[in-house]
Amino acid sequence: MKKAMVTGGAGFLGSHLCDLLLAKGFEVICVDNLITGSEQNIAHIKTDKFTFIKHDVTKPLYLEDNIDFLFQLASPASPIDYLELPIQTLKVGALGTHNMLGIAKEHGARFLLASTSEVYGDPLVNPQSEEYWGNVNPIGPRGVYDEAKRFAEAITMAYHRYHEVDTRVVRIFNTYGPRMRLNDGRVVPNFIKQALGGEDLTVYGDGSQTRSFCYVRDEIDGIYRLMMSDYSHPVNIGNPEEHTILEFAEIIIRITGSSSRISFKDLPVDDPRQRKPDITKARKLLGWEPKVSLEQGLKETIKYFKDVLEP
Ligand code: NAD
Ligand code: UDP
Repeated sequence: MKKAMVTGGAGFLGSHLCDLLLAKGFEVICVDNLITGSEQNIAHIKTDKFTFIKHDVTKPLYLEDNIDFLFQLASPASPIDYLELPIQTLKVGALGTHNMLGIAKEHGARFLLASTSEVYGDPLVNPQSEEYWGNVNPIGPRGVYDEAKRFAEAITMAYHRYHEVDTRVVRIFNTYGPRMRLNDGRVVPNFIKQALGGEDLTVYGDGSQTRSFCYVRDEIDGIYRLMMSDYSHPVNIGNPEEHTILEFAEIIIRITGSSSRISFKDLPVDDPRQRKPDITKARKLLGWEPKVSLEQGLKETIKYFKDVLEP
């Protein structure tokens, strides 16, 4: 039986990844310090093939058992979280990724870094392909996340080149679904919570900025396929269907059947104007593309948030 370790495994994406790995027959070690995640996300897992270790990956970790695969997902991920936790975000991207690469090297394990579309910053090209180097403000408020992930990619490639660690880098674009935190400040939970509560949906700026939303099941499938592939350079995994944020607010109002209206608030500093993945590589190398429509994914997510709000 193969063993996989998932850091950030009690978070939104990490917990879905643990589920998929267990379903595929892996033994799973989940490592998380619960800074933005929750044990609630893994409470449903009842098997002795699953171990939870509460640990901060910026500190050294010694494992008794050998592992075959290491998925490095630990990091605050929502803009609100990383603006509140700037030093922790920089440390987990840098020291945390370094420590985890050390474990992968020691164990001869294959290593996957969860990177992000934020490495493209406020992109000057649309859609973004993996060849684009990005347009990041290193000293702006979002720089703590963007630069931590850019460093994480650089050290991952260095371990690959100099220590011959077998590495993968996934650039994850906006992903949504059940187990997102209701108050994590990201647009999907904010809008759904506001629509269900009959409050105004708060569109930042004039809402002309774009995002492309991928349902969690598709995202996790893409991440798994990348880990099992033999490709060591970064691969975008996201849904290329692009919407303005204003359109997105209207879609949420329609699907929830809410009587909420839209109000406008200030645009956060350095908020990217556009974001849409070019997924040519994922299609060619992994035979992957998203399958879940925005309508279907949002219905499943809205159901989850309804249950959280009124259990
Ligand atoms: P999340 O906040 O739900 O999960 C992150 C997890 O990492 C949490 O459980 C948190 O407690 C844990 N963590 C943070 N610092 C840690 C540390 N020092 N030691 C141990 N655990 C630590 O966020 P998510 O959306 O599930 O994101 C998971 C990963 O995917 C992150 O690396 C994020 O940057 C990346 N990502 C996510 C998205 C998205 O749309 N969800 C987009 C791009 C990239
Ligand atoms: N946004 C918004 N209203 C909200 C929350 C977010 O208009 O209540 C906007 C935000 O300014 C950004 C987009 O929605 O343009 C996506 O924001 P999110 O925080 O989900 O993630 P980002 O893609 O910026 O990392």
